[in-house]
Amino acid sequence: MDRPRITIFDTTLRDGEQSPGCSMNVQEKLRLAQQLDRLGVDVIEAGFPIASDGDFEAVQTIAASVRRPIIAGLARACTPDIDRAWEALKGAAHPRIHVFLATSDIHLKYKLRITREQCLAQAREAVRHAKSLCADIQFSPEDSTRTDIPFLCEVVEAVIAAGATTVNIPDTVGYSMPEEYGQLIRTLKEKVAGIDNVTISTHCHNDLGLAVANSLAGVQNGARQVECTINGIGERAGNASLEEVVMAMRVRVDRYPYETSLATEQIFPSSQMLAEITRVAVQPNKAVTGRNAFAHEAGIHQDGMLKNPLTYEIMTPQSVGVPDSRLVLGKHSGRHALALRCQQLGHHFDRRELDEIYRKFVILADRIKRVQDSHLLELIHDVTSNFSNVDTGAQGKKFPAASAVPLPRGAAVVGGAHESVPAHIPVGPGHLPKPNAFGEHHGEQEDYLWGV
Ligand SMILES: [Zn+2]
Repeated sequence: MDRPRITIFDTTLRDGEQSPGCSMNVQEKLRLAQQLDRLGVDVIEAGFPIASDGDFEAVQTIAASVRRPIIAGLARACTPDIDRAWEALKGAAHPRIHVFLATSDIHLKYKLRITREQCLAQAREAVRHAKSLCADIQFSPEDSTRTDIPFLCEVVEAVIAAGATTVNIPDTVGYSMPEEYGQLIRTLKEKVAGIDNVTISTHCHNDLGLAVANSLAGVQNGARQVECTINGIGERAGNASLEEVVMAMRVRVDRYPYETSLATEQIFPSSQMLAEITRVAVQPNKAVTGRNAFAHEAGIHQDGMLKNPLTYEIMTPQSVGVPDSRLVLGKHSGRHALALRCQQLGHHFDRRELDEIYRKFVILADRIKRVQDSHLLELIHDVTSNFSNVDTGAQGKKFPAASAVPLPRGAAVVGGAHESVPAHIPVGPGHLPKPNAFGEHHGEQEDYLWGV
């Protein structure tokens, strides 16, 4: 009955925050870290302390005030980085230093200009130094998936011997395929001495849209920590999306019999908070957290949903914190769905009235694709004033003024935070990327120099 537990390592504040347009200030990071705590993530990677004073302060502030989860800080494999990370982390209830060093030949040759032997020695030394400061040490061989496998095994073995407690295997450039990534994790499990005493972690990028699939393949082959971000934000095409990884394991527990400690009903509030802070909207069809993730427009789907949500819904909106499943009213909507929405807006009609409203609704929907509650209320108002002209007695009683109608929970999503985000999306040229440690802007070419 006991399912293996998967540690959820959230890097929204580090890898996510590094992505263009997603910079956050210290207060915003703290607010999000507190939400991640409510969400129940096991590890919060709060930043890269040597990268800037702002990053340092954010890590230090979060370490001081968010006490339940492990707080991690990133460091390159060198003493100044590690010391700076420790300085920021040492006030944490559960600190973790995350050291990384590239291991692929292409990074060694062109980026670091060191040999494999130098790389191996540097990794070992860095972990040894970090271990002298902190018990919980994570090591990432950057660009693992393009590293020669025997050399990768050698590095992993060396850092475990030096004291690493988690070994993270980044698909830094989003190059791997699920079977291949799973096989890599299995090879490490089979070949590396001491691997059973540490946690293997996944860190997958989404350049080919496979970050979540690769992370799950890693878990199936022995990884017990997944690194991910809210809304899948991160360098270039982003990181594995936290909500997709977690809900895949929750919904398909028959295929992925693993546990996480997440309070999944906090997923949607977390996604909304991130979108609001960064002003980067969630793509409407994004799995789990997109505006349309629980919307049903086609008449036949709406009819099925009304009869039994299981017909078209594999998880309930409530299970991820979306207030209500929303039936989007458009030209394909049926009379049944329209009547229900009218009821949710506080209007009950007889057949004749509904016929008239439906007739006008179809004309309107043909014109404006998607009928919002405000449109519907206006339409109801028009139709009902006509009725009241003919049919005296009903006026004012049956049809309260639009502004006086309390919106139902579903409608609050339509007009509320869920839809307010796109209004302030623009991440135009005015949105400056954050400066890196060298005081330059964090340009696209530097992206892969900066983290795993
Ligand atoms: Zn990354």
